[in-house]
Amino acid sequence: EHSISRNETLRSESLFIRAQKTTPGGVNSPVRAFRSVGGTPRFITRAEGPYFWDADGKRYIDYIGSWGPAIVGHAHPDVVKAVQLAAANGLSFGAPTEGEIEIAEELCKLVPSLEQVRLVSSGTEATMSALRLARGATGRDKIVKFEGCYHGHADSLLVKAGSGLLTFGNPTSAGVPEDFVKHTLVLDYNNVPQLEDAFASMGDTIACVIVEPVAGNMNLIRATPEFLTRMRELCTEHGAVLIFDEVMCGFRVGLGGAQEMYNITPDLTALGKVIGGGLPVAAFGGKAELMQKMAPIGPVYQAGTLSGNPVAVAAGMTTLKLVQEPGFYERLGAQGEKLVAGLTKAAKEAGIAFCGDSVGGMFGFYFSEQVPSTYAQMMAGDKNRFNAFFHGMLDEGVYFAPAMFEAGFVSIAHDDAVIEETIAAARKVFARIA
Ligand code: PMP
Repeated sequence: EHSISRNETLRSESLFIRAQKTTPGGVNSPVRAFRSVGGTPRFITRAEGPYFWDADGKRYIDYIGSWGPAIVGHAHPDVVKAVQLAAANGLSFGAPTEGEIEIAEELCKLVPSLEQVRLVSSGTEATMSALRLARGATGRDKIVKFEGCYHGHADSLLVKAGSGLLTFGNPTSAGVPEDFVKHTLVLDYNNVPQLEDAFASMGDTIACVIVEPVAGNMNLIRATPEFLTRMRELCTEHGAVLIFDEVMCGFRVGLGGAQEMYNITPDLTALGKVIGGGLPVAAFGGKAELMQKMAPIGPVYQAGTLSGNPVAVAAGMTTLKLVQEPGFYERLGAQGEKLVAGLTKAAKEAGIAFCGDSVGGMFGFYFSEQVPSTYAQMMAGDKNRFNAFFHGMLDEGVYFAPAMFEAGFVSIAHDDAVIEETIAAARKVFARIA
């Protein structure tokens, strides 16, 4: 039972009622609906830097950042200007542009394993297409994924997935044919012996292994270096394609993504979120030899009316320039660490079991004694405590992800004053919920 004054959410409440008439559940992506935490989702009217404002005029410190893209802060003037300039030249052509070459060159320069990329409009398309390419290139059907990893909503990948599916207690979606699911082998994250067993028994039928190398859809869970190293070795030995889904962790944990941090070279990489700077750009890419199998030169088909959209590419390219400013990731990582350290200290003072972790600009916090390294440990966290904390913080004007199963994000606009304001609010809320 939380103490939101009704006046504070009147406009959002009436918008939510109205939205539910024409949109299933009132939202266009499930986690936005607050189903896990209860209460009224806030309807947002504008955002700037580390803040957004809702329809009732209340300001929040935002730790979602559009679920990843807003790494330079909301409405960064350079990004807004680039979008305005691009828009004035036409919104979409359906013919190639120089901007698409520039962003492809930038991605290949910055992400170690990329030799060629194809632009798409969502992370879902990126992973779905990478999967098709892996199957097309190997002539095999079986894929391996890990419980709690979310790779977008392609049929083959909506099996024991994370993020919103965990909220609804239904990690495998209805509407996914049994005939598809039988090709998806789901293993435990960070379980090396299980992965070895799977390859020993069926390695030569596995098209690919897809993994979030830093998992952000079952709260935040780091892969152990052994897990990824062994995965790379086994894929190489058995001729399976290794796909890193860096839609979330790419340009988030560091400039070269998780693959640079762990020093592991995947065969294919999926990117999204940050590379569009808040507009719809995603990509998949990797070894040229593999990418050459894509249409129009190869047999694996994939296409998109709005792929490489000039306005979206302008936002993405400008964002990619901004994250290359000297010291960007050092500062971003430091802010993430300060936040987690401050929250942990405040919880301790209130006698609450709590811990946290961060990798670059991604963070997680857990109502448990120990940072989880497995899905099962993460699921054992205290969900009621999380929900009480979430609503308490919302009352105080701090917006964390509305479910225990999501990672959080800081932007470069989350300066020390913003972090300190957050920690001061947390101190009050922890005392209340202890
Ligand atoms: N992969 C990962 C790791 C993600 O976090 C997400 C989105 N949260 C996706 C894929 C799907 O991306 P999109 O929502 O843009 O389709």
